[in-house]
Amino acid sequence: MVKKYYDVIVVGGGASGIAAAIGAAKTGASCLLLERYGCLGGQATTANVASYCGFFTHEEKPRQIVRGVGEEVLEELYSLGYYDGYKISPVGNAVVALDQEATKFALDEVISRYPVDVLLHCRMIHTETDTESGHVRQILCVDDQDSYEFSAGAFVDATGDGNLAYLAGAQMRYGDGKGKGQASTRVMIMDRVPSEVQLKPDLLEKVFIQAKKDGYRNLTKESGIVFRINEDTVCAILPSIWIPDLRAETLTQCEMNTRKQAQEYLDVFHRYVPGMEHCRLITTGAQLGIRDTRHVVGEKILTGEQVIHAMKPEDSIARGAWPCEMHVDVNKIAKYIFVDHDDYYGIPMGCLKAKNWKNLWCAGRTISADPVAFASVRVMGCGFATGQAAGVAAALYQNGQGSIGSVQQELIRQGALI
Ligand SMILES: Cc1cc2nc3c(=O)[nH]c(=O)nc-3n(C[C@H](O)[C@H](O)[C@H](O)COP(=O)(O)OP(=O)(O)OC[C@H]3O[C@@H](n4cnc5c(N)ncnc54)[C@H](O)[C@@H]3O)c2cc1C
Repeated sequence: MVKKYYDVIVVGGGASGIAAAIGAAKTGASCLLLERYGCLGGQATTANVASYCGFFTHEEKPRQIVRGVGEEVLEELYSLGYYDGYKISPVGNAVVALDQEATKFALDEVISRYPVDVLLHCRMIHTETDTESGHVRQILCVDDQDSYEFSAGAFVDATGDGNLAYLAGAQMRYGDGKGKGQASTRVMIMDRVPSEVQLKPDLLEKVFIQAKKDGYRNLTKESGIVFRINEDTVCAILPSIWIPDLRAETLTQCEMNTRKQAQEYLDVFHRYVPGMEHCRLITTGAQLGIRDTRHVVGEKILTGEQVIHAMKPEDSIARGAWPCEMHVDVNKIAKYIFVDHDDYYGIPMGCLKAKNWKNLWCAGRTISADPVAFASVRVMGCGFATGQAAGVAAALYQNGQGSIGSVQQELIRQGALI
C-alpha cells in the first residue's frame, strides 16, 4: 500500500479537473490529479465530444468570458496549429473545434508546466470521512499493480458523475431528481463524406423519420447535430439513451445499445443520404458521452432563473454564458433557452462547496445547479472556469486562508474572469 499526503487532491482529469489542479498549484498547494483513463481531457478525449463550448457569449460579436487555465489550453492548441479562433456552430453558438489527439497532447503539455503529480490509469474506489466534523480524510485508489491511500487537506470532485462526493456520503441529486434527466449520446465520427453532401438538420430529420417508418427499430434522435469537422469528416451526435444509474450492468447495456444505434444510423446514412453511400464510421469513442447523472447539493444551488437573467452575484467565482441546452427527449434535437441579452452570468462560490462538508469542493458537471442551470454550466468552457475556482478555493481553505474575497482575488491574480 502506497501512502502519501497532499494539500489538495483532484479526482477526474477532464476540463474541470485539469483547471482545478492547476488552480490549486498556482495558489501554492501541493496537488495530485487522478484520472482512471490513459489521457486527460475527459469526454473531449474519451467520448469524441468535438468542441469546447462556453468560452464565449452568444452575441453577434462573441465576447470571451473564460480565461485563466482555459485560455492557456487555447493558447497551447493555437501554438500546435489546432486553434485559430472560434467557429459558429449550426445553432449559432461560438465554439472551439477540437482535434482529439492534439487536445490530449496539449493538455499533457499544459499540466506538465506545473508542480502537479498526475496519475493516469489510477481509479478512486473508496473514501474515508469524518462526517461529524465534515471532512473527507483520504481516498483509496488502485492501478493494475498497487493500491494507494492518499490523504489531503481538501478534495475536488471533478469526476463528472460526482463519484467522490457520492462515496463520501454527500447529499446528491440524480438527473432532475424526479427520475428523469438529460439523455446521454454516443458521438459518431464518420469519414468519406464528400464536401457537397448537405447536412442540414431539417433534411436529416426527414431521413430519420422515414427510416423509422421503414422499420429501423434502434434509431432514437430524429434530429441531432451533424457537422463537418474537415473536408470529408463529419461528427454526428445522434444515438441517445437515458442512463438511470451508474451500475456496470446498466452502463454495459447503454454502451451496447448506443453502439447498435450507431450501426443503424450508419446504414441509414448509406442508404438514404445521397453522397454518403461509402461513408465509414471511424470511431464512436472509448465510451458513451454522458450528460446528466449525479449532482452535488451545495451550500448554494445555481438556478435557471439566475442563468437566464444573467445575474452577477457578488460572490461570483466564474462566468457562464452557454444557453441552457436541454436534451430531454431521446428522440428530438435539444431545446435551448438563451441567456437574456446574450450576456453572461456569474456562478456563486457556494455552488462549488458540498453542503455540510468543510473540505469537499466540486467542479464541472458535478456542481450544485438545478436542472435548467445545469443545462448551461455543464459545458467544458464553463468546466475550466468552475474547476480553476474549486482548485483555488480548496487550496486556500485547507490552509486557513479561505474566504470568498481571498478566492476571488487569487483567481483574478491567475488571470481568470469571475
Ligand atoms: C454527447 C455530448 C455532447 C457534448 N457536447 C459538448 C460540446 O460540444 N462542448 C462542450 O463544451 N461540452 C459538451 N458536452 C458536455 C461536456 O462534454 C461535459 O459536460 C464535460 O465533459 C464535463 O466536464 P468535466 O470535467 O466535469 O467531466 P468529464 O469530462 O466527464 O471528466 C471527468 C473525468 O473524471 C474521471 N473519473 C471519473 N470517476 C473517476 C474515478 N473514480 N477515479 C479516477 N477518475 C475518475 C473520468 O474518467 C473523466 O475523465 C457534451 C456532452 C455529451 C454527452
